[in-house]
Amino acid sequence: MKRLIYVLRLGHRPSRDKRISTHVGLVARAFGADGIIYSNTNDYSLQESLKKVTQIWGGPFEVKVGGNWRNIIKEWKKKGGIVVHLTMYGENIATSNVLEEIREKTGDILIVVGSEKVPREVFDLADFNVAIGNQPHSEVSALAIFLDRFFCGKELMKEFYNARKKIIPQKKGKKVVELKKEVD
Ligand code: SAM
Repeated sequence: MKRLIYVLRLGHRPSRDKRISTHVGLVARAFGADGIIYSNTNDYSLQESLKKVTQIWGGPFEVKVGGNWRNIIKEWKKKGGIVVHLTMYGENIATSNVLEEIREKTGDILIVVGSEKVPREVFDLADFNVAIGNQPHSEVSALAIFLDRFFCGKELMKEFYNARKKIIPQKKGKKVVELKKEVD
């Protein structure tokens, strides 16, 4: 059975993080996640931006805004899901068996990414604390690399449904075709 993969974005600050939070959502969608939850915020502009992308380039991809991160994590685990927290302090994906251990588990996966300092409780609530190398970089790169390794690169061939447009890859230039709406 297909495991659902959602991203939980912690600590979005509307004044500072709009662009990077949108990029976390874009990466989640393009690299094979099923949805994203922006917790502890009421910044619905994030949902609007990603909805537009999904309407044009396809889905399905769910965007939720709000809710308390602690309750979201606890509910996810109560329903049998597992929680993977991406942090530079975790087990290095390149030098440990953490990815195999995640694959061996069953249950939907909630991938948690932070913005500024992540509360200690997240490290304790997570089933896995995973480092994409033990150097500081970004939630955008960490998420992209985690998903790419999890899916072994196959997510880059994913079909998106109900798209209005599709890119036909070119050596040079841009070719985009308009698609007819699919009927369910
Ligand atoms: N010092 C912060 C902390 O306490 O986690 C790091 C903030 S970093 C700008 C924002 C987010 O990027 C982190 O919460 C984490 O999710 C992700 N991140 C940054 N470097 C990472 C790494 N090497 N491995 C995994 N995730 C990373």
